[in-house]
Amino acid sequence: MSQPARIAITGAAGNIGYALAFRIAAGDMLGKDRSVVLQLIEIPPALPALQGVAMELADCAFPLLREVVTTADINEGFNGADYALLVGAKPRGPGMERGDLLADNGKIFGPQGKALSDSASRDVRVLVVGNPANTNCLIAAANAPALDPGQFTAMTRLDHNRATAQIADKAGAHSTDVRRMTIWGNHSATQHPDIAHCTVGGKPAAELVSQAWYREQFIPRVQKRGAEIIRARGSSSAASAASAALDHMRTWVHGTPEGDWTSMAVPSDGSYGIAPGVIYSHPVTCAAGAYSIVQGLAIDDFCRERMTITDQELRGERAAVANLLP
Ligand code: NDP
Repeated sequence: MSQPARIAITGAAGNIGYALAFRIAAGDMLGKDRSVVLQLIEIPPALPALQGVAMELADCAFPLLREVVTTADINEGFNGADYALLVGAKPRGPGMERGDLLADNGKIFGPQGKALSDSASRDVRVLVVGNPANTNCLIAAANAPALDPGQFTAMTRLDHNRATAQIADKAGAHSTDVRRMTIWGNHSATQHPDIAHCTVGGKPAAELVSQAWYREQFIPRVQKRGAEIIRARGSSSAASAASAALDHMRTWVHGTPEGDWTSMAVPSDGSYGIAPGVIYSHPVTCAAGAYSIVQGLAIDDFCRERMTITDQELRGERAAVANLLP
């Protein structure tokens, strides 16, 4: 039997972490035939709550769960990690400016990048969920000299899944009928959900819905779905965010289906005119454990304008944390 996969989760006692750990232990990320070690990381005040999570994990008697490590030491937590899900982040406080939020989170993600570089598996795959996710990811990658920046990704899979569900509902289809949805840019309200290449049941999505519905209802709804859920539930979307994190990692490892792609925020490389230097969501295919940006898609003027707006936001975020990028 293969070695268990070592999976590190930061912020593991938080809402998303609580939803994530149990599903990973149940085999929902890597499959029902891969045993796992969970390396759960929290800040010291949250360690008692983390002990409670570990106790519940033990009480589940999961067949695939070999060991649970709980720690506030990031080097111990990332030691030998094959996968790292960076979920813990500092939430925006009352009256806090975006620049302060970026800087405070940068102070968390810089040391985490270094610890991953020093302690994780050389092949570690990193997913940043904690917001502002794209720029936190950029900071972590920049502080990890022994790792390839391409090992660092940020999550736009929840936006991708939300867009997929919305278009399926509008077209009277099922989410599994939807192919080639694309999220461009930042995981923020400037993201651009693009249906220009999307099909539903083999038909172009753009022919199944009106341009007015696409621009005036679909795009803002996907961009602001998080706020809609907070209004309804009284707290933020945790189960769907955790589910999307599992989807992101599973797709990265096991691949995208033939004829389809997914959305991942990955280091920009000049594709589609997005200059290197930011973590930008692109359509990607995955095969043999690696992702590649889908090439050659036609970009119309509307999409180009939206892609530029979200790119500019990311470059503004990068400028605000320039001192944290060695
Ligand atoms: P959540 O588990 O609800 O959220 C964690 C992070 O994920 C936040 O940055 C949140 O952003 C982000 N996120 C990304 N996508 C989504 C989404 N779709 N819906 C909701 N959140 C999303 O936060 P909690 O406060 O419950 O838990 C955070 C935990 O992290 C705490 O237990 C805390 O102790 C820990 N922590 C750990 C740190 C570390 O390891 N160094 C540092 C700071 C905190 P947003 O805030 O924008 O909702």
